[in-house]
Amino acid sequence: MIFREKSTAILSRSNGSFNHSTQNPKKRNFVWEYAKSIEAKDHIHLKPSYDLFIGGKNVKSKKYFETINPATEEKLAEVAVASKSDVHRAVLAAEKAYNRVWSKTSPKERAKYIFRIARIMQEKAREFAVIESMDGGKPIKESKLIDIPLAIAHFFYYAGWADKLNLAFPNVNISPIGVVGQIIPWNFPLLMAAWKIAPALACGNTVVIKSAETTPLTLYKLAEVIKEASLPDGVVNIISGAGDTGEAIVNHPKVKKIAFTGSTEVGKLIMKSTAGTDKKITLELGGKAANIIFEDAPIDQAVEGIINGIYFNQGHVCCAGSRLYVQESIKNEVVKKLKHRLKSLRVGNPLDKNTDVGAINSKMQLKKITELVNSGINEGCTLYQPECSLPDKGYWFKPTFFTNVAQANRIAQEEIFGPVLSVLTFRTPKEAIEKANNTQYGLSAGIWSDKGSKIFKMVSSIKAGVIWSNTFNKFNPASPFGGYKESGFGREGGKQGLKEYLNFN
Ligand code: NAP
Ligand code: MG
Repeated sequence: MIFREKSTAILSRSNGSFNHSTQNPKKRNFVWEYAKSIEAKDHIHLKPSYDLFIGGKNVKSKKYFETINPATEEKLAEVAVASKSDVHRAVLAAEKAYNRVWSKTSPKERAKYIFRIARIMQEKAREFAVIESMDGGKPIKESKLIDIPLAIAHFFYYAGWADKLNLAFPNVNISPIGVVGQIIPWNFPLLMAAWKIAPALACGNTVVIKSAETTPLTLYKLAEVIKEASLPDGVVNIISGAGDTGEAIVNHPKVKKIAFTGSTEVGKLIMKSTAGTDKKITLELGGKAANIIFEDAPIDQAVEGIINGIYFNQGHVCCAGSRLYVQESIKNEVVKKLKHRLKSLRVGNPLDKNTDVGAINSKMQLKKITELVNSGINEGCTLYQPECSLPDKGYWFKPTFFTNVAQANRIAQEEIFGPVLSVLTFRTPKEAIEKANNTQYGLSAGIWSDKGSKIFKMVSSIKAGVIWSNTFNKFNPASPFGGYKESGFGREGGKQGLKEYLNFN
């Protein structure tokens, strides 16, 4: 196979740079050094301090916190903490904009604004990508090729729907909901904001959105775009803060809909505090996806799918393929290939275009990953990590996988949200289905096989909102995304995503 014929790449570090030393089967020793290719930062504009964006204006708050670069631990900027009264102010601004302007703006005009936002984002795509990587630690190639283009694509997609809502939902009366509150996590900051803001505006609602504590910067860049697009003041209000800022949005009586993406734990709190109210809710929560490889699958492609499934964005992905189910007959072959492939993953500076695995988003997340990995070791699972040295500063975790994992082990049950894979096996499709469904979650899954009928049978039996076949982690604005069970409810993306921002009467 291709990999055996090729030489082995070993990640090492000398004189402060990452090298790949390679040895071919004939033992001709030579060193293959990757030239660094660092993305320029001189074109980005970051202010030392960001105020809240309320009613189209920058509004000061009483408290500010620092956002840092997790790859260097350097401070990037200070960001305002929205207090309960700031949230109130943002909600009133959104309500005023709804009553006076946005509810009276024709769908065609709404579409023009959303298109304009998308076009301006396109012009600033490189700046958005660099800031996203600096604030959150993700590899620049991912923010450049995935996060930012997909975020822009969501605005374009929903701009197209704004004046066609009656075609999407014929023969029913539809109306906007009013002021919507949106709360997003730190793993795909701008993309999650786009998933939420674009359909909300297309349907005629106004928005108060809160960024996650560790990644507020691209949202404030978006505020600049919104201003440049001349969106009427107060239609989108962008705020930052911690959990209690989110709580204040959830509990505000004038907020008629909550769109939340984050942990199952906080999702449950939101359910409790909105019980008995008439608020509409969508919850996009955690996951523990099964990635299932049958013996008839194209193995090399599947190995790439496993790597992409779990190490993309350091595994900080709700739909990550974190439970690998390999058919027993090919387990040894797959594990061998995985080990080989892990050795060639380049871990390090997120702004280096060669980097495959960047920094862990925060010290807290690194602690959580370490704790769960230790539990795997203590419960008797076998750990594999490639030899690679990590930068001295910042938060890092080597790409990792465990074999000898039992269904009951914590690493097979709990969401790790890091670059850690649990490898398990199965013998029959029935067993694969049972094991895949043996989880509290139901967000996504992957199936690798060359038999279409087998794939369709599996798809109809696995309880997951999104199932990829012979690929993984593919996203498109036209395709709805969301979960079953403790992965939440409601769909984002596609026509289904519009439904969540409309009243039907
Ligand atoms: P999190 O702790 O639940 O936080 C998510 C957001 O909620 C953050 O903005 C957070 O603010 C805020 N928040 C915290 N406590 C709150 C409260 N009591 N009331 C209202 N808001 C509150 O989750 P996370 O650690 O940021 O993100 C990781 C989780 O998100 C994972 O479980 C992942 O699976 C899930 N996720 C799901 C999807 C999906 O589409 N299903 C997509 C991405 C991520 P702070 O930042 O200040 O804590
Ligand atoms: Mg940060």
